[in-house]
Amino acid sequence: MGETVSLECGCCSRTQELSIGSGMMYGSFSLDDIIKNSRGKVKKHVQALQNTGVVLSNVCEEELLACPRCNTLSTRFSFKLFDKQGECIYESIFNCSRCKTRLLPADKKLTDYCCRYCSSPSLSYSDLTGCWD
Ligand SMILES: [Zn+2]
Ligand SMILES: [Zn+2]
Repeated sequence: MGETVSLECGCCSRTQELSIGSGMMYGSFSLDDIIKNSRGKVKKHVQALQNTGVVLSNVCEEELLACPRCNTLSTRFSFKLFDKQGECIYESIFNCSRCKTRLLPADKKLTDYCCRYCSSPSLSYSDLTGCWD
């Protein structure tokens, strides 16, 4: 189960919705589903791994990530693939769409980040926050 957090910017008044965690649908994700949700290079890479048959299991989630340089939040469909020995053989990596810095898991209070639209540090929780699955 995941949750939806809605942050409102006190400067530009825009809201940013973040769906966090692994919703119900991700529990039964197969490699085919992951390929369907991937694009470009990632998709080709996962397809190649699928063809070799080394992938035994996977973990998927809607991951909450932050750009260390812009100090903004975003969520991405992220996943890890494991082989028969339980070794992680693939982990999705994302870069900031603005500055191309590698995004890292968000580890601060969400209101300590900046608005992704106007970069102002004026985020607060809006009352739309709730659960999803
Ligand atoms: Zn703003
Ligand atoms: Zn950035």
